[in-house]
Amino acid sequence: MALTDQPLEFVPLRGLRFDNRFSSQLSADPEIENTVRQVQKSFFSRVQPTRTASPKLLATSKEVLDIVGISQSEASSEYFTQVFSGNALTDGMDPHAACYGGHQFGNWAGQLGDGRAINLGEVVGTEGEHLMLQLKGAGRTPYSRSGDGRAVLRSSIREFLCSEAMFHLGVPTTRALSLCTTGDQVMRDMFYDGNPAYETGAVVCRVAPSFIRFGNFEIFTSRGQIDELEKLLKFVIENHYPHLGEPSPETYVEFFREVAQTTAEMIAHWQRVGYVHGVMNTDNMSIHGLTIDYGPYGWIDNYDADWTPNTTDRAHRRYRFGNQPAVAQWNLAQLANALVPAVHEVDPLQTALDAFMPTFNSYWSEMMASKLGLSSLTNESAKELVTELFTLLDSAETDMTIFFRRLIDIDTSTDPELATTETILPLEEAYYKPSDFHGDTQGLILNWVKRYLQVSRISGIEADERAAMMKAANPKFVLRNYLAQLAIDAADNDDISMTHQLLDVLRNPYDEQPDYDHWASKRPDWARSRPGCSMLSCSS
Ligand code: AMP
Ligand code: MG
Repeated sequence: MALTDQPLEFVPLRGLRFDNRFSSQLSADPEIENTVRQVQKSFFSRVQPTRTASPKLLATSKEVLDIVGISQSEASSEYFTQVFSGNALTDGMDPHAACYGGHQFGNWAGQLGDGRAINLGEVVGTEGEHLMLQLKGAGRTPYSRSGDGRAVLRSSIREFLCSEAMFHLGVPTTRALSLCTTGDQVMRDMFYDGNPAYETGAVVCRVAPSFIRFGNFEIFTSRGQIDELEKLLKFVIENHYPHLGEPSPETYVEFFREVAQTTAEMIAHWQRVGYVHGVMNTDNMSIHGLTIDYGPYGWIDNYDADWTPNTTDRAHRRYRFGNQPAVAQWNLAQLANALVPAVHEVDPLQTALDAFMPTFNSYWSEMMASKLGLSSLTNESAKELVTELFTLLDSAETDMTIFFRRLIDIDTSTDPELATTETILPLEEAYYKPSDFHGDTQGLILNWVKRYLQVSRISGIEADERAAMMKAANPKFVLRNYLAQLAIDAADNDDISMTHQLLDVLRNPYDEQPDYDHWASKRPDWARSRPGCSMLSCSS
């Protein structure tokens, strides 16, 4: 037995209380060899993290430590680093990799599974809720296919920071507990251009009620394993959707309806904050309506509904910003198809699926009303205002985050007829080319702002209330692509301080935090075409 195959040592972490429902109630892969294979009729395979050379803890999220029940002092212990880099276990852990399939870029891809993620077990959190701890980048599993089971520092920093940033923005998401480097070197061909290089290996510990994806259901239906499909449904209803009642075909439909609804709400939030997931395959869709699997995601700098951060998606732009609602609906249709053999009929699932777009539209329109500081978008003039807003944002390179944030400073007591270039000055900062703001686009901006002032008047919201509503809907700070890249550049030079500072600032994304104004400014010119800032590959 090679050293790396030897069972991991157990070390104490007193705060954690385990109650492993997934791995105790569902059946495990009977094969215990950790070799790549098709795993049939099993929900997961037991597998230990692979030992790492010299793990080092780079960052933790204090809120997530609190939720899972680990004290700050325990988080500073050597044991913590050992456990959350995959070098040791603690009592109650039952490490395993889940089996799932998925549709990738619109095509059925067969078995995928946790190829580099290892679930450590479910803790009962300080609020009494069950939370699965999962290491991403912890080594090979039976689902690794041709991959090495590893993750690199750049993608791990991006996942760590973005999960936490999204949470504080109020966007449903999986969380990140910790970020460690492993001391191992990992070979990656970052741009798939035949230039592989060694990069620093890293592991993030993610936390969520579960990591069950649409693909966990799809794999069984695709193989005609209906008993397993029903067992998984029963497990999910009893443990994660108990309010729906006893498992039955009717509750399975209710479950689907709820997944569609929470997914609609999540996507509306993505559109609100300018987040582009980049790889919305059905294996990357959570049954809890949480943003999951931070890969080649990106943030909208200049508003562009056609933008996709993912270089692999450049040709067809399936995962472009403006297409996210439609893709979510398509993904939900795949989940509905997977549930048909357990529901026994198509119509109720179809009805629930048909409710997705109207539900999304109502969330979206509510959020857009808040972004504009209006009571609602129900009247025709408000609807037209929004249509014209997107025409305006398209007409010149305009920073989406800054535009909405600075809209707060437009003085809505101004008589629409008397609005001048002075009135629209707060918006100047949102324009990438000063010549746009001062030139051709100025007339369009002024016209739109006049309409805005009119609609705002009809809406009749008090100035203070309007400002508060807009401030809560329009973040000042988001994890701009170039900011994550700067934090990565520094970390590559052994300086993790920017990651810590970003984590801190992004805790309060709606607050002014004037000391960090420079992190709320437009993407600098150097970042326009720099890899990592404007385009990202799936290589991670
Ligand atoms: P993703 O594109 O990250 O959603 O991953 C798609 C599939 O590829 C999942 O089954 C992952 O577990 C697997 N995968 C991604 N990267 C690796 C890797 N480095 N080693 C093994 N499997 C991987
Ligand atoms: Mg994935």
